Amino acid sequence: MKRVVVVGGSLAGVRACETLRHEEFSGDIVCISDEQHAPYDRPPLSKKFLSGEWDADRIALRRPEAIAELNVQWKTGSAAVRLDTKSHTVTLADGDTVSYDGLIIATGGAVRRLHNQPNIAGVHVLRTLDQAAALRDDLAEGSRLVVIGAGFIGLEAAATAAQRGVQVTVLEGLPAPLIRALGPDMGSAVAAVHERNGVTIRCGVKVARIIGGDRVTGVELSDGEIVPADTVLVGIGVAPATEWLESSGLTLSDGVVCDASLCAGPTNVFAAGDVARWPNTLFADIEPLMRVEHWTNAAEQGAMAARNLLATSKGEPTSAYAAVPFFWSDQFDARIQFLGRTTVDSHAEVVAGDVVSGRFCAMYVTNNRLTGVLGVSMPKLVMPSRALLSVNTAPDDARRWFTEKQASA
Ligand SMILES: Cc1cc2nc3c(=O)[nH]c(=O)nc-3n(C[C@H](O)[C@H](O)[C@H](O)COP(=O)(O)OP(=O)(O)OC[C@H]3O[C@@H](n4cnc5c(N)ncnc54)[C@H](O)[C@@H]3O)c2cc1C
Repeated sequence: MKRVVVVGGSLAGVRACETLRHEEFSGDIVCISDEQHAPYDRPPLSKKFLSGEWDADRIALRRPEAIAELNVQWKTGSAAVRLDTKSHTVTLADGDTVSYDGLIIATGGAVRRLHNQPNIAGVHVLRTLDQAAALRDDLAEGSRLVVIGAGFIGLEAAATAAQRGVQVTVLEGLPAPLIRALGPDMGSAVAAVHERNGVTIRCGVKVARIIGGDRVTGVELSDGEIVPADTVLVGIGVAPATEWLESSGLTLSDGVVCDASLCAGPTNVFAAGDVARWPNTLFADIEPLMRVEHWTNAAEQGAMAARNLLATSKGEPTSAYAAVPFFWSDQFDARIQFLGRTTVDSHAEVVAGDVVSGRFCAMYVTNNRLTGVLGVSMPKLVMPSRALLSVNTAPDDARRWFTEKQASA
């Protein structure tokens, strides 16, 4: 293998490049990124970067010297528009083609927009550094921000804006905030920190359209009510960035479908991070194919995809990526941590602390076993529970573990 091409120069892509070099791959590495910036970290975009506490230098994923040491040919500002797995080439938007012996797809997620979202001043989405800077600059103290969508990124941005003295209203179509990630009860419990800090969250409301002339003035709901706004953030999630792969012959179904080793079909093509969907053997009984939009997953998969590509090229066995998904979120003074998975059939049960105090831990039971643990400002209890999620743990054993752990704390 003489040349590896990595498409997507963010977390999963950078980890892939680093791992290739760490594993002593001495051939060419070409990293194609449609962004102009050097690789940066996304979590601060809704937190310390949005608040203005950190600038762009502070969120660089690596120091410039470390990036230079990787000896990677960076093609920034270049979008991949087509993959041909027969001729082993990636076509760029300017018509150039780049050939590969090994390919790692790390194109992450593309932000979703409303079907009728107007392109007017004051209307924002939040995925990239430029988008975060535009939103940050638009949030004036005392102004009114409406966030459409009560998912993690929308709620983090809501918290940050409120801490900057902005009046924030969050509109959510589902009956509770964070419902997809945490279920209705825990979603409401976590989001209670917003109510305590003056953010209005309205659930079960349908947005009809965003209104305004040159600049946004409000959000119209399906019953005709207008919620006034100086700024609107549309936070309705991301879709895996697979458009450029449509003619590739790879299996695309809510992401690039991979095997357990993250191989996307052809033996020299792997995928990693937010774009990849793969069978996580630890959760096969509740979710046969999983796609995860969290930092730790992207970092670990980037490394694993690179190691498995190298192993394949040497005719060595590959390893399966089996892991307990983990994410964190900071909203006001609450540190939210979640390990594992939930489905619509999961049952959540508080096992430590209490919801009213805003400090608690809940376990999720799905298919009669422990599949998730949520902690709000209880890091010492949440993180050690990872071991329980790596094996099949019965609900009673999990309850006992939490009781004993608290008693010994
Ligand atoms: C505002 C925000 C806050 C977050 N906070 C948290 C948090 O607190 N905790 C947590 O666990 N996770 C958090 N995340 C999620 C985490 O940042 C992502 O899971 C992670 O960035 C995924 O990395 P990735 O490399 O797979 O994809 P991405 O970071 O999406 O990177 C993909 C890159 O590929 C580029 N690309 C896409 N298509 C093409 C193409 N055709 N050609 C060339 N380049 C292309 C994209 O522009 C992008 O630069 C947050 C995300 C955001 C946006």
